Amino acid sequence: MIYMDNAAATRPFEEALETFEQVNRNYYYNTASIHPEGRRTGQLLEASRKQVLELLGLGGHGCVFTSGATESNNIAIQGVLKNKKQFGSTVLVSEIEHPSVINVIEEMKNEGFDVKYIGTKENGQIDLEDLGEKLDNDVVFVTVMAVNNITGVIQPVSEIAKILKNYPKVHFHVDATQAMGKVDMDLGGADTLSLSAHKFHGLKGAGALIVKREGIVRPVMYGGGHESGIRSGTVNLGAVAAMAKAMRIATENREENYRRVARYNERVRDAVSALPSVHVQPGGVPHILNLSFEGAMGEVVVNALGARGIMVSTTSACASKLAVLNETLVAMDNTEAIVKGSIRISFSSFTTDEEADILIEALKGVHKEIGGVLK
Ligand code: PMP
Repeated sequence: MIYMDNAAATRPFEEALETFEQVNRNYYYNTASIHPEGRRTGQLLEASRKQVLELLGLGGHGCVFTSGATESNNIAIQGVLKNKKQFGSTVLVSEIEHPSVINVIEEMKNEGFDVKYIGTKENGQIDLEDLGEKLDNDVVFVTVMAVNNITGVIQPVSEIAKILKNYPKVHFHVDATQAMGKVDMDLGGADTLSLSAHKFHGLKGAGALIVKREGIVRPVMYGGGHESGIRSGTVNLGAVAAMAKAMRIATENREENYRRVARYNERVRDAVSALPSVHVQPGGVPHILNLSFEGAMGEVVVNALGARGIMVSTTSACASKLAVLNETLVAMDNTEAIVKGSIRISFSSFTTDEEADILIEALKGVHKEIGGVLK
């Protein structure tokens, strides 16, 4: 089988798996224990933290290890808003965020916050003019993702950070889950950032919340005080050390991988654009390619590719079982036929030239097979 659903989960690097095993064999102690082995284990945790921050180029920031981006987003949104109530009550969120942001923000309405959505342009980027119009003195929180998980479109994070400099009480949260290891972005303007290891060839169950200054996030879960009290509970050090390892490999090879994956993206894009009734979405990072066979259901195309040995997804794994139209594609003003017919192909550093060739032939074959239903 050919795996092209890497925006949902990536295959771990061998080195990450080895690190996980070695750490669990040799450093199984609690990172908070003060006996000699506990201290050695705690030192490994701090070395992992330092490495993650250095690889991000954010050496002066804090890093709280979590179980993944869903947890990081929850802590950032709920933990920051706890501190903000006296300063204002408006929260701005882009309408194309992942459910682990949108659903938390929606819940904040029950805490008395007023939620406003920032619009999206047809190219998939958030509308900075709309952001400008919605910013006022009551706004205390803005959240925008770095790279969209449905289209791969890169969001203008540093421009937003520049705009928000004029609003000092606004906290700027960035969900950088799909950017890490794929594209070099200036993320220094964000107050908090979410990461997830299994999106860059680490393991599931590890992620990070990067925090610009101490004290801006309050805990949302209480316990023994691990991770500066922000995320209590014994740290999953094996997965954390494996994440740091995967991040190093992904970062070191990022540019070369980007160029190679961009070639695959372009070839697939060119091949399918030539077919009738195919709509290709604007892109950003080359790892994600979203396209529609207009008139067919995305699920049918995914299944037809599956029968040919290629694994892709309809929109995102988190939404693929829901019978709703994908919000990102709707926000970009796509027709219902395009949204319903959409599939997401996502490459990784393991994708090969041969796999890209097989994908192109399979897409052409499926197109012919279901030609009768296409618009
Ligand atoms: N944000 C984005 C943009 C994502 O793509 C994902 C993963 N689907 C998440 C957050 C959630 O990440 P995790 O699975 O680590 O909780």
